Amino acid sequence: MSTYTSEQVKNLVDGKLDWDTTLRMLSMPKDAARFQLYVQALQKKLDWADRIVLPLSPHMFIVQQSKTKKWVTQCDCGHVFCDYRENWKLHANVYVRDTDEAMAEVYPHLMAPDTQWQVYREYYCPKCGTMHDVEAPTPWYPVIHDFEPDIEAFYTDWVKLPLPERAD
Ligand SMILES: [Zn+2]
Repeated sequence: MSTYTSEQVKNLVDGKLDWDTTLRMLSMPKDAARFQLYVQALQKKLDWADRIVLPLSPHMFIVQQSKTKKWVTQCDCGHVFCDYRENWKLHANVYVRDTDEAMAEVYPHLMAPDTQWQVYREYYCPKCGTMHDVEAPTPWYPVIHDFEPDIEAFYTDWVKLPLPERAD
């Protein structure tokens, strides 16, 4: 069983840890105190009153909107993408790198994938321009819906905290 220092929690909040490490820290071991610490630290950095239900990435959250109690996927700039059950990528600005020139901007010379077989899709917040995700699918592959977190199980079984109220 590992524990995490406040320095590591700070790095987590500052977005300096990759998402795999973040998830590991959030979910192993089952530790309500650490989850609360993390969410509190994140919440302090945000200038909106909506309550974080689950951080999805350093700049994206499922939140409970303070007025309506609806759960939505929201950028840290406050932009609401959609209902938390929808695929937020369908509400993002998308930049597709599907030419050799566009790939050359992110890959060293001759290391870029063949755009017949792989493209890059970058997903940006329409309001603040933060890049929230990158996919590298084959060109014909549909927009990937990463995962639908089982939030109820996360609260009930993992961190053992009361589930925030939700208005549908
Ligand atoms: Zn934003």
